[in-house]
Parts: sequence; structure tokens; C-alpha cells
Amino acid sequence: MKHFLGKIHLRWCKYCNLPVLDKTCNVCKRETVQVKITPPGDVRPGFPKDIEMINNILKDQFNVQEDIFKNRIVLLNKTPGVDYMKEIILDGTVFAILKYDVEKSNWTILPTVEGARKIINAGGFKKIVGIRKDVVPYILERHASVLRPGVVYFSQDIREGDEVIVLVMDENEEDFKDTQVLGVGKARMGYQEVMKRDKGMVVKIRHAETPKEATYLRETGDLKESIDKMIQANEHVIEKYEKEAIGFMRNTVERIKKPVVIAYSGGKDSLTVLLLSLKAFRDRGIEFDVIFVDTGLELPETLENVEEVEKRYNLEMIKIESEDFWEKLEEYGPPGRDYRWCSKICKMKPVERFIRSRYKDGCLTFVGLRKYESINRSKKPRIWKSKHIKGQIQCAPILHWSAMHVWLYLFKNKAPYNKVYQLGFDRVGCYICPAMELGEIELIKRYYPQLWERWERYLREYAKKNNLDEEWVKGGWRWRYREQ
Ligand SMILES: [Zn+2]
Repeated sequence: MKHFLGKIHLRWCKYCNLPVLDKTCNVCKRETVQVKITPPGDVRPGFPKDIEMINNILKDQFNVQEDIFKNRIVLLNKTPGVDYMKEIILDGTVFAILKYDVEKSNWTILPTVEGARKIINAGGFKKIVGIRKDVVPYILERHASVLRPGVVYFSQDIREGDEVIVLVMDENEEDFKDTQVLGVGKARMGYQEVMKRDKGMVVKIRHAETPKEATYLRETGDLKESIDKMIQANEHVIEKYEKEAIGFMRNTVERIKKPVVIAYSGGKDSLTVLLLSLKAFRDRGIEFDVIFVDTGLELPETLENVEEVEKRYNLEMIKIESEDFWEKLEEYGPPGRDYRWCSKICKMKPVERFIRSRYKDGCLTFVGLRKYESINRSKKPRIWKSKHIKGQIQCAPILHWSAMHVWLYLFKNKAPYNKVYQLGFDRVGCYICPAMELGEIELIKRYYPQLWERWERYLREYAKKNNLDEEWVKGGWRWRYREQ
């Protein structure tokens, strides 16, 4: 099987209104269309908490009255950037970008033009700029900004820097309709300023399109029903991926004659590898160990998940105890992305020690690594020798799977995935990881205030002793050597 680096798998069945990772939909057998999203396209389904959060922001920002996402599958595409940014995919197109605003310390929604049309239809009549018809060609053809003389309506609540929706309007028009939506952009002036002026740039346009009606594909049923249908629409893809992975795993075990180890982290990717291992090895009598490292910085759901997985699949994981992070912290100071002593001391070293003592000639470890996770990982081979542990061979059976493949596989198998995902986290890990983005830190603060408090208290004391500012406490600590 050949896989392109960075190929985006996400397609859409416009008839069923479902994401499909293949050219044909397995439900209606019709052809699917490519969804235009930002690479690498590691898309995942939106969980109810994600939707709730997005709806709250929409209400706050645009005063949206209705649930735009009701009975529809919503996907989220994490895009690479400095900090938290996600495309929200609805009805087979990007509805908006969800962005964590570092300066304002909150989330903002940047709708696409299609998103704006849906917002207007849902009664989102806040942050609106109406412009005269005769300036439309300048915006569409010359990508001009909205200038003060073209403005006929300007919402009183607009402040400088706000995301706004630009409508084509007559002087006396009072209704807002989706067919008037011309574009979206950022206000360069607030209401007071606009009222005082008779010239100047009022809105910097981000996207503009010839006005038309919003596109709604059919409702997909309630969430449970939608998920079932989504699995059905993708069944052929998932079966193909599973079969390929199982074959690969069996071949690898036959070829590399070493004890087999499955590394479990509590995350969705390692759960997928564990499930595949059960199917690949159990009925062939191939024995394997499942290991889990408890760093002492796991979220409570992760520890619960380990127990749940053990019970469900009738297995006992080997729990590897890690060094005490807090003790080591006194010695090393806060970890950073460029100073990751934490993963070395609390994860790699204990595993190394364990493997050395248990498997004298090394082992074959299956891990949940995927190339879509990051650019660093995109060029990894599927099997490689561990740099740290002599004799250890590592193997990534789901290297070429996207997050969507993983989720569909877990849903299809009704696998007990970590409940942390339902809160809106993209990944599972230590709750103070320096690799976290500010948006993720916000989620930790929101759902685990006590856990975060201990860390923040430490950061504050450290900052005080070392003359570091509030910016450092807020997120600067995540790099040790980068200039602040
Ligand atoms: Zn279909």
C-alpha cells in the first residue's frame, strides 16, 4: 500500500452529509467530494463539549440564537500555528476557525463567508457592517477594504479588532438575510470612531464572495445515530486499514523474533494499537506485554481508563512507576520544550530500566505514533531501532492513519476511550506538559483547577526568585532557552 506524505483523506458524502475517508460512500454508494482543509488534516469529530463551547462563543460574539450544529456531524481540524487554532467543519465545508487569542486570553471565532451566512440565518445579528451595493465590485475584484463612505450600517457593539460580518444593504434596510452576506473581516474602528469620521478604513476584509444562499445538507439524526451512520459510511475504509495493520503486525512479529510489548498511554492512538494487537496476536497464541508508565502527572480519567481497558479486554498491564516529578523539579527547574527532562526522567528512563531488566535481548515495541501528528513525525519509518534502548525495535502500525481513521476505528469497536477527549482535549498527556498550547492550558485550568493550582503556585514562586514576569508564568515557562 502506498501512502503520500501529507495526503488529506477527508472527503464528504453530500447526499448523506457525512465525512468519508474514501472516494465512495459505503451507505449510498455515491461519489464523495474532497473537503478543502488546511494540511496536514488530522481531523477529529467534535464532541458535545466542543460544540457547547463553540456555541457559547458564537452566542457571545455574534448573539447567535439557534444551535447551528444541531443534528449534524461537526469535525475539528487542528491547524499548525503558534498557538491553538482549529477549523470547524460543517456540511462538508469549513464553517469557521476557532482561535485562541493570546493577547485577550480567550477564544475567538473567525467565520468563513459560508459560516457567516449560517450565523445570520441563526439570528446572529451582532457585529454587522452594512455596505452600499456600488462598493461591492471594489471588494470582490480588487480585494479592497471597506472604507467609511461605503458604510450604511454599523452595529453599535463593534469595537476595534472585532470579527465582523459584512452585508450588502440599502440605506433603509432593516432585515438581515444570508443572501446579503458579502464577506468577513476585522473591524479597524469601533462604533464611536466610525460615527465621528467620514473617511478611513473601517473593515479589513479577510474573505469575500458574491452573495448567495447558505448551503445546508440534510440533518444526520441525533449524535448516536449520526455516529452509527458515519461508521457505516466508512466501514470499507476502516476494514481495509485494520486488515492491513494486522497483517503488518503479524509479519513484523514473525520477522523480528523478540518479546512483544504494547506501549499504552491512555490515549486514542495507543488504544487503537492495543485493539489491533488483540486481534492480530491473541488467536495466534502470540503473547505480549502491555506496559503503562504512570508519570504521577496523569489526569484522573487516564488512570480510570487504564482500569477500564484492563477489565474490558481481560488483560493486566504492567505499570511502570516513574521518578517523582516534584522531587526532581527542585533539582532541574521547570521543564521546557527545549529542555524536556521531564519526559526523559519520568518516562524514558523508567521504561529503559524496565526493558533492560525484563528482556535481556531487547524487545519489539508497538507504539501509537502517527505521521499526521506533527511534521517531525511525518518522515518516520514504520519500524526503527530505538536510539535509547539497545536491542529495542519500535514499530508504528498506524503510522499512516489520520485521527479520523483512529476515531472511526474506536467508535466501530465500541472501545473504551479516555473520557478526557469528551472535554475537548485533542490529546492525552501529563497535565503540565511544556508541549501544551495555551488553549490546552485553558482547558486544564477549567476542568482541573486543583491540579493546575499546584503547578501555577510553583511557577509563581520560581518567577519571583528568578525575576521573571507574568508572561513567563502564563506560558513563557514552556521554553527554557528561547528569548522571552
Ligand atoms: Zn452517502
